[in-house]
Amino acid sequence: MNVALRVTAEFPPPDLLGAPSRTRDRPCRPIGAAVPGNDPMLPDGRAFRHPGRSIGHREATPRPRRGVVQRIAGRDLIERIPRAATGGYWWAMRPRFFPLLVNGRTGDPALHVDLPMERRALMFDLGDVSRLPPRAALRLSDVFVSHTHVDHFIGFDQLLRLLVGREKQLRLHGPSGFADRVEAKLRAYTWNLAASFRADLVLTVTEMHSRGRGLRTQFRLTRGFAREADEAVALADGVLRAEPSLSVRAAVLEHRTPCLGFALEEPEHVNVWPNRLAEMGLAPGPWLAGLKAALFRRMPDETPIAAMGPGGTRHLPLGVLRERAVSITPGQKLAYVTDAAFTPENRAAIVALARDADILFIEAVFAARDAALAVRRAHLTTAQAGGLAREAGVARVEPFHFSPRYGGAEAAMLAEVEAAFRGA
Ligand SMILES: [Zn+2]
Ligand SMILES: [Zn+2]
Repeated sequence: MNVALRVTAEFPPPDLLGAPSRTRDRPCRPIGAAVPGNDPMLPDGRAFRHPGRSIGHREATPRPRRGVVQRIAGRDLIERIPRAATGGYWWAMRPRFFPLLVNGRTGDPALHVDLPMERRALMFDLGDVSRLPPRAALRLSDVFVSHTHVDHFIGFDQLLRLLVGREKQLRLHGPSGFADRVEAKLRAYTWNLAASFRADLVLTVTEMHSRGRGLRTQFRLTRGFAREADEAVALADGVLRAEPSLSVRAAVLEHRTPCLGFALEEPEHVNVWPNRLAEMGLAPGPWLAGLKAALFRRMPDETPIAAMGPGGTRHLPLGVLRERAVSITPGQKLAYVTDAAFTPENRAAIVALARDADILFIEAVFAARDAALAVRRAHLTTAQAGGLAREAGVARVEPFHFSPRYGGAEAAMLAEVEAAFRGA
């Protein structure tokens, strides 16, 4: 068995904008270098944080997501180690989500979240995306639009321009009325030559309404983007996407128009302890896949698992292996909340959505002193954003959507969020 390999320092996060498949063999490269002027938003709290710019993770209770990655038989498995041993905040396992605010904290909202393991990306909001390299835009499989105020949706045209002529399926998700807005955008252009295109662009649009209801429709280039039949869809618990490797849930917030907040989550991880396997006379091997599958399916403790070791195969109860050979840690969670009035209903919905997130991107449009203005515009202040992050128990908060009126005062805005986040 190979020895444990600590990878936090040397683990090379992927080239965010166009992540290669073999990320682990590449040197680290700050994402700020890829898109100058960006805030580094990697969830790895160490390597990519600009001193003083990214704010806090609480020093309080250790979270069960910190540990080292162990390489076993060519595969990376994850173990938990005490936080104290790491000397700082970092993600326990290989980070799966690589978020980047395309326009920093002050420009139009647009959060690109790369999923290097899946060679694709998600986008939350679609403000101006002219700074997003085409490679990063082409990786998008899903775009989640909170609402269609112009600063959140003007990037649709830029994305459309890039995708026309390529074979591509893109899912767009938004609030009530969203399909009409997409249709209106598409109608603004002339598609008389579209039928001659060999590569089709298919846009699937899902609207989330309240109470688990929704609507889905489709537009395809080769049909001149004529709107296809609307179909009612059930979105139980606000889940817009449910895939084996991730889910995206939304909550309808009030911004004097319905506005969606989002939570991106991956399922829990089963982490194998190789030293404990060895103590049990077992060895890592393909049988671990069966063990993990049984755990994910929550099969009964007495379920026999064919476990392999140097002495051959033994059938051990699932419960014994769970107790002695593995630990189960929650998956990573990223929440994205913007454009919401500070109402009791919104506060409750935001806290529930962002609960225990590893990282919360939250609007902080106005300074704390301008709370009255925030009420009039149905936005949050820095202090409100920090307080909500604290209440939700998130590990890290990343405020954005600062009003341009505070130009040059980003540090002060961050300090206000951080003070509220720490309960000062
Ligand atoms: Zn808005
Ligand atoms: Zn806005």
